[in-house]
Amino acid sequence: MDYVERVLAALKAKNPGEPEFHQAATEILSGLRPVIARHPEYEKAALLERFVEPERAVLFRVPWVDDGGTVHVNKGYRVQFNSAIGPYKGGLRFHPSVNLSIIKFLGLEQILKNSLTGLPIGGGKGGSDFDPKGKSDSEIMRFCQSFMTELYRHIGQDTDVPAGDIGVGGREIGYLFGQYKRIADEHVGVLTGRGLSYGGSLARTEATGYGLVYMVEEALKCRGDSLNGKTLLVSGSGNVAIYAAEKAQALGAKVVAMYDSNGYIYDKKGIDIAVIKQIKEVERGRIKEYAARVKGAEYHEGCKGIWAIPCDIALPCATQNEIDEESAKMLVKNGVKLVGEGANMPTTLEGIAVFQRAGVVFLPAKAANAGGVATSALEMAQSSGRLFWTFEEVDAKLKNIMVNIYHNMDAAAKEYGVEGDYVAGANIAGFLKVAGAMMAQGIV
Ligand code: NDP
Repeated sequence: MDYVERVLAALKAKNPGEPEFHQAATEILSGLRPVIARHPEYEKAALLERFVEPERAVLFRVPWVDDGGTVHVNKGYRVQFNSAIGPYKGGLRFHPSVNLSIIKFLGLEQILKNSLTGLPIGGGKGGSDFDPKGKSDSEIMRFCQSFMTELYRHIGQDTDVPAGDIGVGGREIGYLFGQYKRIADEHVGVLTGRGLSYGGSLARTEATGYGLVYMVEEALKCRGDSLNGKTLLVSGSGNVAIYAAEKAQALGAKVVAMYDSNGYIYDKKGIDIAVIKQIKEVERGRIKEYAARVKGAEYHEGCKGIWAIPCDIALPCATQNEIDEESAKMLVKNGVKLVGEGANMPTTLEGIAVFQRAGVVFLPAKAANAGGVATSALEMAQSSGRLFWTFEEVDAKLKNIMVNIYHNMDAAAKEYGVEGDYVAGANIAGFLKVAGAMMAQGIV
């Protein structure tokens, strides 16, 4: 067994029942073998063992009362994974599937993603198994207040700065921030994704989706191609999916299908994003509504069928493991040329192998969706400096960051002998900076 295999075996033995965490660690560490070979000092310093162990993990009870007076109890999590290069930074996810394994996989990914942005932010993640679907505004508010009543003591603008993720958007961040301010008595940038009137940044809402498309555009440009005239599948219909679809269409592509967790819509003329925004952002409704409102559009129950639709580019933007081996094979058979991951770990390890074998350009999540956290870091910079940049300023910085990430992971892949393997390239480029900082700071 080599060093990587030993660390992975120990991780699986010490953290049983955490399949998503095992999956993410396997993907990351396997790609780091060329780095480990060049840096034998890492093994002596047990660097990988320290890298895969969170610095701190907080688990807490979140009691709340629904509108009918019934008391509920959810689990709350904050995993502060790595602060070698900056304060912990990473989103909060509210979804019934949330457990420690999912939070740890997201936290581990976040360390490298944040490093790739080039900004001084460490990695963390948190959330709850609370399901916001179908809850009233006041139930959401009471839940967020209860969640923050515990979380506030573990976070701070220079310690840990959470943001949104699945199920946590502007409304939830507002309630969470209100409760933080009330308890801590300070109006500081302790959460990002805040509203514009209380410290938020322009372009944060759009950042992850736009950033993904900026990277796709750069990858195509480097191959003498562009988005113009391309047919796209964008899974999900939340924050990332909506703004990825919007930017792709603005650059001349046609998004023909999207989904929510019930089913997918297919609109061969190209999806009308304004209608999706109305249904999803304003009415908080189901995507099924789209087919009822737009002539010629179809709705199909279930999500998997989306990957059987022929396309040039697929942007999975909903959740982990959306594209398995079978779906990947279907996409390849139908001619997909590029896959850009908007969601975190939306492709299984087997699915990634299918794309790589077929020569599909594969842009992994930790690079391709880093635009959200990068813009969160720009929000932190504006908060600290009491500044407010224009949409164009933030958008230009975002684009520049995404183009740089693309070239850094491309260069790292070339330098370490795995040209074109952006999974390895992103892991290597992100890891080198964190590893250097950890080595410099001693055994901590
Ligand atoms: P949202 O909650 O805004 O949207 C999530 C979308 O995915 C919804 O359409 C949801 O459908 C769908 N979805 C969730 N779970 C499933 C499932 N099991 N099967 C099918 N569809 C599902 O979340 P975001 O857009 O913010 O996040 C999407 C992904 O992007 C996540 O992986 C997140 O970690 C990642 N990400 C987000 C960033 C951000 O800035 N928001 C930054 C970087 C990564 P439904 O409404 O039916 O639940």
